[in-house]
This record gives sequence, C-alpha cells and structure tokens, in this order.
Amino acid sequence: MTATMKAFRLTEWAKPPRLVEVPVPKPERGQILVKVGGAGLCHSDIGMMAMPEAAGRMAGWNMPFTLGHEVGGWVAEAGDGLKGVAPGDPVVLVSAYSCGHCQFCLSGHDNSCVETYAGRGYGRDGGLAEYVLVDSPRAVIKLTSLDPRDAGPLSDAGATAYHAVKRVLPKLTPGSTAAVIGAGGLGMFAIQFLRVMSPAKIIAVDQNPNRLALALASGAHEAVTGVDTFTSAAIKEHSGGIGAEAVLDFVGNDASLEQGLAAVRSVGSFALVGAGARSIAICGPISPRTVSCSPSRAARSATCVRSSRWSRPGWSRTRRNASRSARWRRPIAASTRASCGAVPWSRRTSGNKPAHLRERQVRASHCSKNHLDDCWAI
Ligand SMILES: [Zn+2]
Ligand SMILES: [Zn+2]
Repeated sequence: MTATMKAFRLTEWAKPPRLVEVPVPKPERGQILVKVGGAGLCHSDIGMMAMPEAAGRMAGWNMPFTLGHEVGGWVAEAGDGLKGVAPGDPVVLVSAYSCGHCQFCLSGHDNSCVETYAGRGYGRDGGLAEYVLVDSPRAVIKLTSLDPRDAGPLSDAGATAYHAVKRVLPKLTPGSTAAVIGAGGLGMFAIQFLRVMSPAKIIAVDQNPNRLALALASGAHEAVTGVDTFTSAAIKEHSGGIGAEAVLDFVGNDASLEQGLAAVRSVGSFALVGAGARSIAICGPISPRTVSCSPSRAARSATCVRSSRWSRPGWSRTRRNASRSARWRRPIAASTRASCGAVPWSRRTSGNKPAHLRERQVRASHCSKNHLDDCWAI
C-alpha cells in the first residue's frame, strides 16, 4: 500500500488551495526525498492562488501542485547514485528552481535560469506538505547550526533582501545613509543585513508602529512613519539634507516609489524589491517619464525597470554617461527608448546637454538578478 501524506495544494486555476491527501513521492536516481520541518508562507503564495490559467501555463506550471517554496527539513531518503547526502541530514532547499546547465546557470546566474519560472511550490510540488521531492542535490544546502524548522524563509525572503543589500553596499561608506521602505518580512531582513554588513545609518520606514519598534530593535537607527507625502523629506532630514545613498523599497507601490526615488541623493542607488505596482511616472522639469515595472513570480526574477521614455523625440541618455556630468547624445536610429542599458544604439552623435535635467541613477535589484546588471533609469 502506498504511503500518503497531507499536502496544501492548488487544485484548480485561480481557486483557493486545499488540504488534501496525496501519495508520498518516491525518489528516483539522483533525487532526494526531504521530510519537511518548516516552510515559510510568502506573499507570492497569495498571488499564485489568483494565477490565471493562461499565465500559469505560459510559465510552465502544472496543475495541480503543492504550494511552498521556502522549505527546510531533513533528508528522508536519497535516491541511487548520490554521495554526500544521507538520511537525517538537516537541509534547506534552494528556493528558486534552476536547471544547472543553461548559459545562465553555467555562468553562476542560476536565478536567471531559463527554466526558473516553474519550480518547487510554483508550478511543481513544493514543501507545504509532509514530504517534498528534490530532483537534484544542487537544490539542497546542508545545515550545520541552523534549525531546519526555521531556515526555510532564508532561502527566499532572506536571500532576496540579501541580494538587494549586496547591490547597494558599494555606496554605503562610513557616514552614509540607507533607507528601508517597508519593515515587513523582507525589509526586516534587509535592516539586519545592513546593520552587520555596512556602516550606514539605517532609516526604517513603515506605517505600522509595531513594525517600526521591531525595526529599531533589529538594527535600524531611525524610524519614519510613512509612506506619505512627507516621507522623502523625512529621509533627507536624517541624511544630511541631500538624501540617502541607498533607498531599498520593499513595498513597490506608487507612493513608495515616488517618495523613495525622491529621497535618493545624486549618484545614489534605489533598489526596487517590492512588487506592489506596475508603473510610476517620474516627473522631471521636461516631461513625465515612465518607468515600467512588470513584477512576475515572486518579483525576484521580474524585470522591474524596463524602459524610460522621453518626451523629447530622439533624445536618450546612454548608460555609459550616467553621471551628473553626462553628455547627452542623440541616436541616429529614430528611437526614443532607453532600456536597461541594453538598447543597441548603432550610431551616436554628440548633442547638447540639457543641463537642467536632474539625474538619478536607479538600480533595480531584480533587474540585476536578471542579468540586467546595470538597469537604471532617471
Ligand atoms: Zn517567496
Ligand atoms: Zn538554467
């Protein structure tokens, strides 16, 4: 008789999940069966419940599947041919799926894998169950001191915040300021990473006083209630009057984007992690400019800052010139689009520099994870 287990599964597109009884999977050669010790609940789990069938199928999802992509536990059974993995080993599972052999995986950018849109807990069976099957030992990290019941969220929420902090670290020299908008799960990770990895003064922004109190206890130096129309001014007040070297937005709605961008000092960095909105208009002296944002699964692999449009036809700022003294160039090609520094301008000629434009470099951590290392917009 086949053993069964409880699993929290999506059984229909755009419907709530159900707790059901399913067979315990049997590991085949090279696979690992993990007994789940703990699993994190993620905001993207909620998004998955509303996933339209067309979008899910486009991402390569199979219905039904078990939710849960932040998983820790113990090796229950190792398939044939595996070395270095034994029953009882405490492990945490790598959250994002990667194939291990595409050009991105081979270059160390596993999170940009061509197959990353379907993985354990998002399109395939995940860890909100008693057991979860792992198809490769490269998706298992053995733990030493961490309790696997607590480690699951580190593989996704923790890793995402860590990545954002790592991207802005070069800007955070002694005397600098870093603002974290949104002191929820990811933001609280970021505050702790910033505290141990940088000398920056850390400003936590949240509308919930309890979260702000926890942020201060977790390493933040200042707490700002927001986001509202005064938030950018409050951040600037705490950062020498000219803005923060880094603003990390873990909310990503129109208000946080607007206030967060306004709080970045020149040559500062803005990390967009939250996936609360799809677009924002950034109004400058010449024209409104639109930075499109298309959050996708878990926002981690989303391409968040895709393009900036300029109302003055023919003008675009090249990535190479992303500084206050940038020269402005007009591409011969009749395009007004500058996106992620990847637009293949074929020819350029020098042009007049509209000196009254205010420049701000924007870095989007998701874009950078998606190999758009230099994604920026003004
Ligand atoms: Zn997640
Ligand atoms: Zn790959």
